[in-house]
Amino acid sequence: MLAASLVVKRRSARWVFIDNVIAADAMVKQPNRNSVRLADLISQETAARPEQIMLLRHGSAWAKTAFAMGCTLEDMTLEQPNESQYDYRRFGIKFVVAIVDDRVQKVYRIDGVEAEGTNYNLASPAFRRFLQKREYETVNSRRYKAAPFHCSVVGARVAGWTNPRLAPLRSTGELFWKIEVDVPDRTATYAEDRDYSKAQLNQAARNNSLRFGNVRTSDRTAVARQRVGQSVVRKLTLEQYGGRCAIAGCDVSDEGLLRASHIKGWAECEESRGDPSNVICLCGFHDALFENGFWSLDDELRVVVRRDIESKTILKLLPDGCSFRRPIHYPPGLDFVRYHRVKHGLRSS
Ligand SMILES: [Zn+2]
Repeated sequence: MLAASLVVKRRSARWVFIDNVIAADAMVKQPNRNSVRLADLISQETAARPEQIMLLRHGSAWAKTAFAMGCTLEDMTLEQPNESQYDYRRFGIKFVVAIVDDRVQKVYRIDGVEAEGTNYNLASPAFRRFLQKREYETVNSRRYKAAPFHCSVVGARVAGWTNPRLAPLRSTGELFWKIEVDVPDRTATYAEDRDYSKAQLNQAARNNSLRFGNVRTSDRTAVARQRVGQSVVRKLTLEQYGGRCAIAGCDVSDEGLLRASHIKGWAECEESRGDPSNVICLCGFHDALFENGFWSLDDELRVVVRRDIESKTILKLLPDGCSFRRPIHYPPGLDFVRYHRVKHGLRSS
């Protein structure tokens, strides 16, 4: 936790707290995030009352196995046993906030029951295999009709989840009110807000405080300002990676072929647009393979390659033992690479 104090033991054997050390460190890593109560924010954006909201956190290991077996977030979220603590109808739940790896993955608006049956006969083939593997009992269940609801916090990090880690949270429980979520701090420099000079944008990009909000494509001024900001991010990214593709052994350095590639896609998360730890310099070939999940990075920033690749051309681009070249500053953030791995079902070993 960023707010945690660093405890230092002195020779006098007295414990002292050095808050400012952590605060300074936090400033470097996350200069532009604010925490707000997740329940309040969801309630505000959906216009639902808190008692109609459920915060549903899937266990990371559980979800990882399910994703690896081909299950979708919908499989895991929208089929629930009757009369359980996950029974949306029983509690009159209208919005479910699905959380994996401490990030809001999706917010679903529950539009009633689509089908009744058992967990096994309602399940997709992949989810059925998962239930079998985990030896779940057969129980009466419902599959809910639902639509993803656009909330500003999709992709944002949540904090405050203590034990019991798997329980779904409702407004009747204390923990429901303690879950916080990081939201973009508007004190960051938003490229579309003003006609910033290149120098100002450069400074903001280097301080990791240059961001990009959502703009309408019809708003030409805002779109043009964002383009200028994006070119600054691109220039900085190329500089951090020495003007070459980050895959070691790939010698593509032609500027026209190099991309500032977002790990967590531009459309997927507003908060991390322009965050240099979310941007890698890749050539067009490796960028396309990265975006399509042919490779990712593990927590040690080693290259993880999909195992079922048959194309000889692709295998040539991702040979055994190919590695990632770290940038000068802002190596890829672990939250981002984890998100990318989970999204594409890649394992880290
Ligand atoms: Zn390359």
